[in-house]
Amino acid sequence: MNSGMVTSAYIVAAILFILSLSGLSKQETARRGNLFGMVGMGIAIVATILGRDVTSYGLLIIMMAIGGSIGAYLATRVEMTQMPELVAILHSFVGLAAVLVGFASYLDPDLQLEGSAHTIHNVEVYLGILIGALTFTGSVIAWGKLNGKIGSAALMLPNRHLLNLGIGVICLILLFIFLGAGKGAGTFILVVMTLLAFAFGVHMVMSIGGADMPVVISMLNSYSGWAAAATGFMLSNDLLIIVGALVGSSGAILSYIMCRAMNRKFLSVIAGGFGNTSTGGGGAADGEQGEAVPTSAEELAMQLSDASEVVIVPGYGMAVAHAQHPVSELTKQLRDKGVNVRFAIHPVAGRMPGHMNVLLAEANVPYDIVLEMDEINEELSDVDVVIVIGANDIVNPSALDNPDSPIAGMPVLEVWNANSVIVSKRGMATGYAGVENPLFFKDNTRMLFGDAKDSVNEILKHL
Ligand code: NDP
Repeated sequence: MNSGMVTSAYIVAAILFILSLSGLSKQETARRGNLFGMVGMGIAIVATILGRDVTSYGLLIIMMAIGGSIGAYLATRVEMTQMPELVAILHSFVGLAAVLVGFASYLDPDLQLEGSAHTIHNVEVYLGILIGALTFTGSVIAWGKLNGKIGSAALMLPNRHLLNLGIGVICLILLFIFLGAGKGAGTFILVVMTLLAFAFGVHMVMSIGGADMPVVISMLNSYSGWAAAATGFMLSNDLLIIVGALVGSSGAILSYIMCRAMNRKFLSVIAGGFGNTSTGGGGAADGEQGEAVPTSAEELAMQLSDASEVVIVPGYGMAVAHAQHPVSELTKQLRDKGVNVRFAIHPVAGRMPGHMNVLLAEANVPYDIVLEMDEINEELSDVDVVIVIGANDIVNPSALDNPDSPIAGMPVLEVWNANSVIVSKRGMATGYAGVENPLFFKDNTRMLFGDAKDSVNEILKHL
């Protein structure tokens, strides 16, 4: 393929990626958006392989076959509940790739650059490795926090801000020394900086508390994009620069949206220490909560038959229980009886942005009855029954009325304003942020204990 054809293919792929992002912004067009992205990536890979930079195909095909098979195997086996972890670990691969490409590009004996081109290339290498390294370790820690291998509480090292600042300043000084150094000393500086960036990535994510993890996920998504863009500069690959910039900026916008949803300042989240669960989460509410009153599926079925306005609030437990299909069936049956059923989706429900929307779409719940928190919060006082299915932190009133709570200030779904609230969960365990939930002890709340899928199936039996 000559360079003109490769460039044309890259332009087509870039357009498809932009169409993909725009498609993914709405549920109705998300499948089409995915398709555009897949076709764009297919074109990009074929054009890159057939381009003039690739001179030998043997090793490339073997590596692609191994990587592709592992990817396909993992993707078909991954549970919906493991999806956030998968995304986090995939971000770490992008970071690691940027580090490896950076070293390869710096040590490449065939690359002979002079003057400012040489300096610019070295800055690209340095920044690519820096962003890649912190994305790599940060994502590995995020993966551990999401699958529970690492505790969700924020690590509060003494002088942690000073530590972060110190690493930043040392990396900056090392950059200037690196630019004036020869190959041998330059490689050594790169190794030192990589180790510092690895440590920074670990510390950055370790010091962010459970409830703020959504911001970290989207932030690492953004970093992985910038790492890819830096790799694109190193390899002089325009498409990689475009794709990196698209991922980097869309991740940054998502981080902003997540921060707004949690009423946090982006810089405070990055500086760490929010969402710490060291208070045990309950704060003043502990000890004065009273008793949680259980109910049965039969009672709830009767209640639902008499209701005219019902709102369902899904959370992480619905994903764990795979309850979305029975929930969809319950919605259908109630709607057939003339009940107005709507879904209320909190922006950080579940374990990844859009988690609940994906599950409900999979179960064919009509899009027009799935509402965002801001769209439905004020109307909850007119609702007869709210059914909270496997959600906890996102319906916790202490976020609004307990300033000592680790989730204080986070907007939540104010379900307690409804006439009656039913919470379906297995026991009295806390949610991801480790915070006690006073909702369970309110006069108008009843607990439907048990696995969410079994409970909803039981309700269906009695309806
Ligand atoms: P939570 O994690 O707060 O609560 C989930 C609840 O589901 C638990 O209390 C658990 O209680 C219950 N549960 C678990 N398994 C089942 C089951 N099989 N059947 C019924 N219930 C079950 O979830 P939310 O969705 O309310 O809140 C999301 C939390 O995750 C927030 O703190 C958010 O910040 C955080 N987060 C969100 C991310 C995102 O991008 N959306 C990313 C990372 C973190 P029990 O064990 O008693 O059943």
